[in-house]
Amino acid sequence: MEHIDVAVIGGGQSGLAAAHALLRRGLRPVVLEASDRTAGSWPHYYDSLTLFSPARYSSLPGMPFPGADSDRYPHRDEVAAYLTAYADRLDADIRTGERVTSVRRDGSAFDVVLEGGGRLGARAVVAASGTFGRPHRPELPGLVEFTGQVLHAADYRSPAPFTGGRLVVVGAGNSAVQIAAELATTARATLATRGPVKFAAQRILGRDLHFWTARTGLDTAPLGRFLSRPPAQPVLDDGRYRAALAAGRPERRPLFTGADGTKLVWPDGQREEVDAVVLATGYRPDLPYLAGLGGAMDTEGKPRHREGLAADVPGLAFVGLEWQRSLSSNSLRGVGRDAERIARRLVAHLARR
Ligand SMILES: Cc1cc2nc3c(=O)[nH]c(=O)nc-3n(C[C@H](O)[C@H](O)[C@H](O)COP(=O)(O)OP(=O)(O)OC[C@H]3O[C@@H](n4cnc5c(N)ncnc54)[C@H](O)[C@@H]3O)c2cc1C
Repeated sequence: MEHIDVAVIGGGQSGLAAAHALLRRGLRPVVLEASDRTAGSWPHYYDSLTLFSPARYSSLPGMPFPGADSDRYPHRDEVAAYLTAYADRLDADIRTGERVTSVRRDGSAFDVVLEGGGRLGARAVVAASGTFGRPHRPELPGLVEFTGQVLHAADYRSPAPFTGGRLVVVGAGNSAVQIAAELATTARATLATRGPVKFAAQRILGRDLHFWTARTGLDTAPLGRFLSRPPAQPVLDDGRYRAALAAGRPERRPLFTGADGTKLVWPDGQREEVDAVVLATGYRPDLPYLAGLGGAMDTEGKPRHREGLAADVPGLAFVGLEWQRSLSSNSLRGVGRDAERIARRLVAHLARR
């Protein structure tokens, strides 16, 4: 069996930031990436997606986001290209097409098992596999009886296949509002939410919100440990989504109460034919390979950690979790900072052994 310093599981922005930080400290990480490229989940996000963070607040350590206009909001494909270029510049051992299926204890080290049957002995493990592979599908009233199409936002690409249809998007976050507004341009779309949609202004006093969260320290304040669950994020809006909802494109309604075949039942008793329900209901940490590692996760599959270091598994760390440490933990601008801290702690851990 091959023996390595650190196995980094996932070659998206979190795994690349972790590799960068570990290399800086003299460790030789091996990045194991299931897909055939090092762009994380970005190539799979919907076609129209642009960052909500301007280019100047969307860089990983050591390589500014390219382009002359650092105030623009880059497109999804620019991020994928940026991450691929970032990986190319890292002097790291990155192995694509390598899915990790399990991580187990092997004495004081870890036994990392790959889908093809390969195994690595690692002195430490960084789990950086994101959330996109585990879309959250909550139990909603009547949804199991609904015989129309049900898809998750993870499977949504563009409004084209739904033109002229009747669609219901469930959720009140950024993706829900953006997808519903996009669908409403070519179809009849409703945004179904449990409560009102909360907005935050994209620009305040002529500056992007990220300028203010950075300037006030809110971006990096270590508040994660005080939160039992990540708070709902308001919808960042330059005014267009509020205006779209006000114009009824999409309309907003409280969540349906049931379903009957291809009809949804609304709280006022109205039954309505609907072509598709889009669940924009978020994601959960995607860590199935840790199931056999006692103490790594709780009974719901949530990682048990303190600011990214596993609470009860020495040598195991997480990077890129939502609110892992701060507001910016799972963002391009913030993940590098968390990765630096994790790398420092892992170096200290390995030196003690
Ligand atoms: C719609 C949307 C918009 C966003 N907009 C912004 C924004 O504007 N600005 C910003 O900073 N952030 C934004 N984010 C948040 C964040 O930047 C992204 O979610 C980012 O993709 C997370 O990076 P990651 O590396 O943690 O996970 P991912 O990008 O999901 O990468 C994880 C990688 O791990 C691999 N993997 C998974 N399981 C295994 C396994 N078992 N073995 C090996 N490899 C595995 C996957 O193939 C993948 O490449 C947005 C997120 C979404 C969903």
